[in-house]
Amino acid sequence: MERYDIAVIGTGPGGLEAAITAKVRNKSVLVLGSKGSSEKVSKAHEVLNYLGLPNIKGDKMAEAFLDHAKQMGVEITEDRVNAVYSMGKYFAIQGHSGNYEASSVILAVGMTAMKPLPGETELLGRAVSYCATCDAALYKGRQAIIVAYSKEDEEEAEFLAERADKVYYLPQYEYDGNLKDNIEVTKGVKPVSVELEEGKAILNTDGEKFVADGVFILRAQIAPSQLVPGLALDGNHVAVERNMATNIKGLFACGDITGTPYQYIKAAGEGNVAALSAVSYLNELKKSE
Ligand SMILES: Cc1cc2nc3c(=O)[nH]c(=O)nc-3n(C[C@H](O)[C@H](O)[C@H](O)COP(=O)(O)OP(=O)(O)OC[C@H]3O[C@@H](n4cnc5c(N)ncnc54)[C@H](O)[C@@H]3O)c2cc1C
Repeated sequence: MERYDIAVIGTGPGGLEAAITAKVRNKSVLVLGSKGSSEKVSKAHEVLNYLGLPNIKGDKMAEAFLDHAKQMGVEITEDRVNAVYSMGKYFAIQGHSGNYEASSVILAVGMTAMKPLPGETELLGRAVSYCATCDAALYKGRQAIIVAYSKEDEEEAEFLAERADKVYYLPQYEYDGNLKDNIEVTKGVKPVSVELEEGKAILNTDGEKFVADGVFILRAQIAPSQLVPGLALDGNHVAVERNMATNIKGLFACGDITGTPYQYIKAAGEGNVAALSAVSYLNELKKSE
């Protein structure tokens, strides 16, 4: 497997600036996220305070960011990262579509307003998972529950249902799909908590209770402490030094995830600092080998 110098997770202003800076410093960069940048950029109505791009609509700003990245040779790998593990001198990154390795990682995944469900964090890796395609093989002849937040999750449900006997699919978005026969869709129920009882996963909702062998929660964003085991937080944000270093050696963070103010230029500026710090870290790592 190719080991990149730097993996950047997230394609908002923080992640794209980090990737551009890493390219300027001649590092091999893996950028994981959405090819269309962040919806917090593309869906903004009008932006007045980004240096050099006055009175710009969000979709035009996203276009400008992506064009700049492309010109610098930054390629985006469309994937949603599920977990990042520090292996000492490198990181193993698990995505929905593949596994990756990098010597350093920059987390630029933005902030999510969603809180984990009661029981979710405690049962992660046992009754709860964030990636149906990653764990599908474990569900041969078994039953699973999927809490889905976007239409793209239907593909994951279909994949899981090829292995599993039965999948309960609970869309949290406007669902108009037509899924396989062994996928039972229940619309309009909200998940409330997860429990494990006598080896069975129970999803309590504001309606009925669902029981299966496991629950998949397919949010677009995962809380940082769940994304990276052992990551130190400061309240809801990732704790960072001035150089954007986290408590995990070789792992840096930038943008909204490190705290307020939530602003494009702050995210981009921190992306620049995080990439330069990752370059210094790589130099040190090389010297120590
Ligand atoms: C409607 C709106 C208007 C705004 N207007 C302004 C404004 O006028 N001026 C201003 O300065 N700021 C504004 N902001 C704030 C600004 O959007 C944020 O501060 C900025 O986008 C933060 O950038 P970021 O790179 O940290 O994160 P984000 O832009 O949130 O990007 C993070 C990216 O990472 C992706 N991601 C998350 N988890 C994963 C994962 N596990 N794997 C792969 N990818 C992942 C997300 O999908 C997203 O694409 C506005 C925000 C909103 C919502």
